Amino acid sequence: MIRLDFYEPAVNRFLHSMTQRMPASHPRYSALADEYGRRASGFRGERSLAYELRYFREDECVMLHGLALELRGMRFQIDTLLLHPKFTAVIEVKNWAGALRIGGAGEMVRDATAHAEARVFPDPVQQAKNQLRLLVDWLEERGVKVRSPETLVVLANSQVTLEPPERIPANVVCRPAMLERLLEWRRRACPAPATITELKAAADLLAEANTPRLPASGFAHDYHISRADISPGVICPNCGALAMNRGRKYWRCRRCCHVCAEAHLSALTDWTRAFGRRITAREARDFLTLSATQQARRLLHRSGAEKIGADRQTHYDLLASEAIRLLL
Ligand SMILES: [Zn+2]
Repeated sequence: MIRLDFYEPAVNRFLHSMTQRMPASHPRYSALADEYGRRASGFRGERSLAYELRYFREDECVMLHGLALELRGMRFQIDTLLLHPKFTAVIEVKNWAGALRIGGAGEMVRDATAHAEARVFPDPVQQAKNQLRLLVDWLEERGVKVRSPETLVVLANSQVTLEPPERIPANVVCRPAMLERLLEWRRRACPAPATITELKAAADLLAEANTPRLPASGFAHDYHISRADISPGVICPNCGALAMNRGRKYWRCRRCCHVCAEAHLSALTDWTRAFGRRITAREARDFLTLSATQQARRLLHRSGAEKIGADRQTHYDLLASEAIRLLL
């Protein structure tokens, strides 16, 4: 079974919404668009494993994708965790493309080409081992016994080559070979395999502790973006234009005439990712491009945001809204 499904990280969604809200002529635009492109490609790589992983029966193992945990103040993230009665596999997915050389310290080097700058990627095997060590400690601190811990680095992109072949680590495989490796681990003898009930209980603990990163004041600060850098407004869910006007009950797109009652929820989610969970009614009025603050209050109230404080200190907690939490 899948306990945590693939979900595009909040930072990817943040970068995407910034590129929608920023003119292409803005000096930060191309850096943000490039980073979004890289992260979106990484996420596509992670998600591409779903096809092979479907081989496992629902009642055979538990999978968690994009698991973000913290151990003694150290944050770590696991692309895919497979809890099988006979083994525990941390799968690190890389969507690298092109010709890579393995450096002396296990790093992967991509030389400059006519289309791309040279890049050095840290040793993915070490990265997966570090995640596994933290995961084992995390589970053992909670009394969960870990069976045969393993790591696997999967190269998801078919357009990648690694040189020299004799130095490719044993636990680095291309995507079509991933399943064979997992099945090897499944065939091994195991004196006391876990039950699926035990694995589900461990997966529940992990899923409850899963805390995707969202800085308290949003991602905009990390990326040196201020409110003046981006356009306010509500994006049309149909055509993607920043062109929704609020009527008495509905939003209507100036470009494609699409009508929608709840389009402000994704705009408020954009705000939460960019600037954090706190917003005042005036800020919401300006960001949603409404004409009256009272209308912003009504929409905030209806969205489930919690009103905090009184008089001039009044603001709203956007993360109190379940609809916004689900969109993050
Ligand atoms: Zn539209």
